Amino acid sequence: MGGEGKNTILIVDDEPDIVNLTEKFLKLGEFDTITSNNAKEAMKMVEENYDKIALILLDIMMPGRSGYSVLEEIKNNEKYKDILVVLFTVKSFNEDVQKGKNLGADDYIVKPFSGKDLLKRIKDILDRN
Ligand SMILES: [Mg+2]
Repeated sequence: MGGEGKNTILIVDDEPDIVNLTEKFLKLGEFDTITSNNAKEAMKMVEENYDKIALILLDIMMPGRSGYSVLEEIKNNEKYKDILVVLFTVKSFNEDVQKGKNLGADDYIVKPFSGKDLLKRIKDILDRN
């Protein structure tokens, strides 16, 4: 499944501070990281690196295409569908979480978060998949 033999996490968020903080903590956790601030570029990165990507941390609210559309495209593609997708959201409303789950999201993380908690959550998600 998702995590096996893969150590790269793709971080997708339009807020640079979130990307930087997330990247810093994932590197401390000895993950390889690649980052993008928009959906279009993120899909290009998936195309080029899908054999290395264990998990995608994906913001929902971004200008242009939303995180939901990226999630949908990944989970509907045979080549990509085993990549774990964890939604990054400021909203913890049930409807958003439910929509993400319906589209195939593997989990979600509510912003803001502490780096320590983030790393623990990511490791837990990778371990159980
Ligand atoms: Mg955003």
